[in-house]
Amino acid sequence: MNPFWTALARELTPYVPGEQPRIANLVKLNTNESPYPPSPAALEAIRAAAADTLRLYPDPEATELRETLAAYHNVTANQVFVGNGSDEVLAHTFAGLLKHDAPLLFPDVTYSFYPVYARLYDMRHETVPLDADMRVRIDDYRRPAGAIVIANPNAPTGIALPIEDVARLADEHADIPVVIDEAYVDFGATSALTLLEGRPNLLVVRTMSKSRALAGLRVGYAIGDPGLIEALTRVKDSFNSYPLGRPAQAGAIASVRDDAYFQARRDDVLRGRSTMMKELEDLGFEVLPSAANFVFARHKALSGADWAKALRERAVLVRQFNKPRISDYLRITVGAESEIARLIEACADILHR
Ligand code: PMP
Repeated sequence: MNPFWTALARELTPYVPGEQPRIANLVKLNTNESPYPPSPAALEAIRAAAADTLRLYPDPEATELRETLAAYHNVTANQVFVGNGSDEVLAHTFAGLLKHDAPLLFPDVTYSFYPVYARLYDMRHETVPLDADMRVRIDDYRRPAGAIVIANPNAPTGIALPIEDVARLADEHADIPVVIDEAYVDFGATSALTLLEGRPNLLVVRTMSKSRALAGLRVGYAIGDPGLIEALTRVKDSFNSYPLGRPAQAGAIASVRDDAYFQARRDDVLRGRSTMMKELEDLGFEVLPSAANFVFARHKALSGADWAKALRERAVLVRQFNKPRISDYLRITVGAESEIARLIEACADILHR
C-alpha cells in the first residue's frame, strides 16, 4: 500500500467498466454501445468545434445545449442539468440529493455504480431484493428511506417498470428524492418525464451514450424540478465548472436536433433485439424480457463464467457479473446484424462442441 494514499483512496471500491480490448475481428457486445455511428450532423458539428475557439473555455452553463434539451423534452432550461456522461450526473445527484440520515434504497441487482458512489460519499444505503422474476417491486420500498434510485429499464436485467409503478413510487415517497435512471429508456420503457408536473421530488437522468451512439463524447443530463437542478449545479460548481467541452456541447446539440436519424437507428436496434432474442431462445437460452439495447440471458449447458470465456475464445465479448443471483447470466449488447450472426454462430459452436 502506498503510504501517500488518503484513507478515502484506500477504502474505495472502484467501479469496473467493461473492457475495451484490442482484439482483431472482435465482436464487442460488452458495454451496451451502439453498433451504429452517431448522427452525421453531430459529427459535422464536432468537427466544426475543433477550431481556433478551443483556446477558450466552453460555456460553463452549457446554455444552448440545455435550451435545446428543454425544447426537445417540453420543459424549461432551468429544469435541465448536463454533465460529463450520466455517470457524472449520477455522482452529483448522490452528493447533492441522495445523502440523508435515513438510507438510500436501490435494488439488489442494478447498475453497479450505485454502491460505488454510495461508498465514495460515505452514504447509508440498503438494497431491496428484486422479486423471483427479477422485477422491481414498488411495494417493497415502503420502509424508512432517505432517497430512492432505480434504473428504468433496470440494468443488467433490461426489464422495464410500468409508468404507473414509477408514479406510485414517486407519490408514496413524496417527501424524499426519487431518481429514475433512464439510460436505456429509448429502447422500450415509458419515460417518467411525463410525471414531472406536480412532483418536485422526481429526477430523471438520461444519457446520450446508448440510443444516440455518443458514448465517446460523454454527455448525460438530468431533468426535474428547478429546486433539484439547483442542488446539482451547486455540486458541479464545487467540483468542475466545465464538465462539457466545446465539441461535446456542439455534438450533443446537433444530435438532439437530428431526430429522424435518432429514431431510425433506434428502430434498427429494436429489430436487432427481436432477432437476437429469438435466435438465443432457439438455442435454448432463457432470455429475460428486454426493454433495453441488451439482453440478459442464461443457458443451463454452462455457467455464466464458462459461457463468457468460451465466447471470448471466439472473439465475442459479452459481460458477466460474478455476483449473487446473476452469475449465470450473460449481458449481451444488441449488435449490428453481422455481429448478431457471429454471436449466434459462436453460441451454436460452443453448444455442439
Ligand atoms: N446508468 C446506467 C444504468 C448505465 O448502464 C450506464 C452505462 N454504464 C450509465 C448510467 C452511465 O452511462 P454514461 O456515463 O455513458 O452516460
